[in-house]
Amino acid sequence: MAIGRGRSIGELLAQGEHSYSFEFFPPKDEAGEAQLWEAISALEPYHPTFVSVTYGAGGSTRGTTVRITGRIAAETSLTPVAHLTCVGHTREELEQILDTYHEAGVQHLMALRGDPSDGPRAPWVATPGGLDYASDLVELARARGDFRIGVAAFPEGHPSAQSLDQDADVLVAKARAGAEFAVTQMFFKAEDYFALVERVRARGVDIPILPGIMPILNLNAIRRQGELIGTAVPDSVVARLSAHDGDPAAVRAEGIAVAAELCADLLEGGAPGLHFYTLNRSKATLEIFSALNVQV
Ligand code: FAD
Repeated sequence: MAIGRGRSIGELLAQGEHSYSFEFFPPKDEAGEAQLWEAISALEPYHPTFVSVTYGAGGSTRGTTVRITGRIAAETSLTPVAHLTCVGHTREELEQILDTYHEAGVQHLMALRGDPSDGPRAPWVATPGGLDYASDLVELARARGDFRIGVAAFPEGHPSAQSLDQDADVLVAKARAGAEFAVTQMFFKAEDYFALVERVRARGVDIPILPGIMPILNLNAIRRQGELIGTAVPDSVVARLSAHDGDPAAVRAEGIAVAAELCADLLEGGAPGLHFYTLNRSKATLEIFSALNVQV
């Protein structure tokens, strides 16, 4: 489901056809950039609804996000979504970046708060003259230009949220500020996703929520990352992967199988699509597509 002229991601998701989308990160060097474009070329034939590029915590990769999303807009058939965070930026700087995106033909934005430098669980310290919450950035981007905006959602709750209900209130506030779609943090239990959707619908908001899919190819690495961001790997999944300890190829195959089962459950249960955390590689996503029988 590719985007036609003038139609936004939010409008496409509302139509009900399954959406596929892919997330990349800004590469740090030439070899990384070559790998990224290889992955983009391998995934482009699947006509994703969009591809998104994350925004770094600071430093030179931030400029790379701006450059790569502009190049995707100019040189491919794909719809780029540029991530932007409030971390370390004044309001004026954010406005300038929004203008640069706009001039590069990037119309879709993921509006995020970002994490403090000590990680997602550390207290938030605002930048003087900057913004405090993703909802402020949604408002700023809407006021600055004709952006169509996505935001983050958390099936297990953001690690600093007081409760799942408060977490849902925050997503609802972002939708009411003008966000058209949401993409979730990685998670491993379909019921966590559906419970989030239920909480948001119970508040009278119908924003499409795309589940974020991260296949487990290395159990320890995902567990460490999960601890940081508040995503638990269920015991049943740990048991399935641990059964192949010492055989990385078998662990990988099981991780793909687990992810494909989750994807099938999500689509069957009514999720509007799947958003893949690709880590700038196409192989795992293509293996999941093959298991789901998704064709070019
Ligand atoms: P917010 O929605 O602002 O929420 C942040 C915290 O503030 C939460 O605890 C929330 O409960 C609380 N809060 C929000 N509004 C209010 C309010 N009005 N009153 C009181 N409390 C409030 N990080 C990056 O650095 N770069 C990226 O490119 C990036 N991409 C991401 C993509 C996705 C799909 C996801 C799920 C996360 C991504 N992140 C990225 C991580 C994200 O920046 C962190 O999870 C961050 O801690 C929260 O961002 P947010 O946009 O959800 O913030």
